[in-house]
Amino acid sequence: MSRQSPSKRRAYRQAHQEYIRAYRRAYYRQNKAKYLAHNRSYIETHREEVRAQSREYWRRHKDERQIYFRGYIRSLKMETFEHYGGAHCLCCGENHFEFLTLDHIGGGGAEHKRQLAVSGGYALYRRLKKQGFPSGLRVLCWNCNCSLGMYGYCPHGNIQVEKQQADVNNGHHPQQLPLFGEVS
Ligand SMILES: [Zn+2]
Ligand SMILES: [Zn+2]
Repeated sequence: MSRQSPSKRRAYRQAHQEYIRAYRRAYYRQNKAKYLAHNRSYIETHREEVRAQSREYWRRHKDERQIYFRGYIRSLKMETFEHYGGAHCLCCGENHFEFLTLDHIGGGGAEHKRQLAVSGGYALYRRLKKQGFPSGLRVLCWNCNCSLGMYGYCPHGNIQVEKQQADVNNGHHPQQLPLFGEVS
């Protein structure tokens, strides 16, 4: 191949962008095993460096990561809320996303989370999504949810106290403090 000027080579690359990309992809696919083996052995022999690099990477991209993560959680929660009656509190109608949470109808949230092996938070939302959003939950705001958990009723008076909770209250059993978590 005759030597070309850098500007000519650049022009060639630009004109054949798609072709070059496809060629590289095909080359990578053909040699994938070799690349992966090389990566693995590199990681094994440069463990500390790799760790330091990745720590540094995460540190430098902290803000982007937080923004991305927040966006991810938000869309996951919105999707979940939509499956449980919409993104508003069933009791008071609160519809600020930040104030909304899930409530286990009739209690049993702690037990359910134990079964799913999640501690709450977005891990619960992810698990629910994986399971195709099983029934038995509803959307409440934190206020209504906490009131229901702590007193067995919400002063708004718009929400039915489930039998299970009503029985507990009528029998004067000691109130269980609500879990300090995403879901009561
Ligand atoms: Zn509410
Ligand atoms: Zn309420």
